[in-house]
Amino acid sequence: MTDDLNDLPPLRDVLQKHGLFAKKSLGQHFLLDLNLTDKIARLAAPHPAVLEVGPGPGGLTRSLLLAGAEQVFAVEKDERFLAPLQDIIDASDGRLMVNNTDALRVDAAELTDIRPLRICANLPYNVGTKLLINWLTAKPVFWDRMVLMLQKEVAMRVVAEPGSKAYGRLAVLAGSIAHGHISFDIPASAFTPPPKVDSAVIVLDILPEDLRFKDLKTLAQVTAAAFGQRRKMLRKSLKQLANTRDISLGDWLEKAEINPTDRPETVDIKGFHRLAEILAQQH
Ligand code: SAM
Repeated sequence: MTDDLNDLPPLRDVLQKHGLFAKKSLGQHFLLDLNLTDKIARLAAPHPAVLEVGPGPGGLTRSLLLAGAEQVFAVEKDERFLAPLQDIIDASDGRLMVNNTDALRVDAAELTDIRPLRICANLPYNVGTKLLINWLTAKPVFWDRMVLMLQKEVAMRVVAEPGSKAYGRLAVLAGSIAHGHISFDIPASAFTPPPKVDSAVIVLDILPEDLRFKDLKTLAQVTAAAFGQRRKMLRKSLKQLANTRDISLGDWLEKAEINPTDRPETVDIKGFHRLAEILAQQH
């Protein structure tokens, strides 16, 4: 089985054989160097089941299967890639399942009953942040690790510390249920065609259940309001949310031990948890 996967043609030949070119509208930047995709895949596999968004010509997909992903559930929006992916299905004895659909419209948790899933993807830039937020806020949690290639700037926002310029909504949501780190950087030149910016591979490991913040939905609302106007003091940026929920802004901030004149980047993750908890208790 492994031999068959190793016998597949180089990815450049696959693109040429099927007349495939990158579509900008779908954020297509391919990794054709299988040494690099192997390095990424080894962060996610071996594992019983891996979800991959945007397999494209299938470099990372092959690497995941070779690294010991027993089954790979792939979601690819562009039907042009179904033919090359079929070759991988055949070479892997059917360990690859491909869904030709938009990852934003599919409930990833419903692709398989196997738990926990690993998520591994070279994410399309235009939908990467949205998908990440969907997976972070999904209930119940269905994954134990995400290995994601993101724009470097987005990756740094995911792992940012309070007080830093990159600290914001993504860092608070991610840090509330997972421990994240940047594993390594990938220069733009490694992709075909090269994007305008460098990328990085981040690893997010789910925290033990008792350490996870549970109400991600309210937390997402609070962080959206606070960081939506990040230059403003919290007494301004959270005013509308307090009004919509019909609660006193002053009481809310006081109970959460948050200084009304603070700006959001100075509030640590626990501070946002208190804000979310108290807001949720009002109803
Ligand atoms: N995994 C391949 C690689 O590493 O070479 C391709 C990565 S490329 C950055 C992003 C892939 O995501 C493309 O194959 C693109 O067609 C696919 N894609 C873009 N938007 C998508 C969406 N909304 N749902 C599913 N796949 C999508």
